[in-house]
Amino acid sequence: MASTAPQRIADGKVVTIHYTLTSESGETLDSSRGQDPLEYLHGAKNIVPGLEKELLGKAAGENFAVRVAPEEGYGAHDPKGIQRVPRDAFPEDIELEPGMQFSAEDESGRGVTIWIQSVEGAVVTIDQNHPLAGQVLCFDVSVEKIRDATLEELSHGHPHGPGGHHHH
Ligand code: ZN
Repeated sequence: MASTAPQRIADGKVVTIHYTLTSESGETLDSSRGQDPLEYLHGAKNIVPGLEKELLGKAAGENFAVRVAPEEGYGAHDPKGIQRVPRDAFPEDIELEPGMQFSAEDESGRGVTIWIQSVEGAVVTIDQNHPLAGQVLCFDVSVEKIRDATLEELSHGHPHGPGGHHHH
């Protein structure tokens, strides 16, 4: 007998959500509302662990709020992640601004993401911590859609959007 139970969020589902992210003091940090919703592949670490955990088992149409500690968000802020590097380390033709994000390699050749914190003449202060590291994240979420991921999406570890649109 065919099941008529609604789809629930589990590993291997592509989930569409709307969300608003606020800080503990109530400042809005990010929101999908009024824009395109966020689509992610559940179980593939596309979103922070604390939010992914809370979404497990939810059905389309459900709304919830969750408070995510830094350890389950973007991590604690590690002061060792802040470094001062010469301006020459960056492409000459790019105007560096605080908040800009770059891909780099650490000493062992591992890919890392860095954020520009400040630029003072020939010295650039960079931070390997995510800008929201150390912050409690308050999410207000509504689950819009749930579907099975395609094999291609599962092998890539992310959704491919409406009509199989491929972004890379
Ligand atoms: Zn892909």
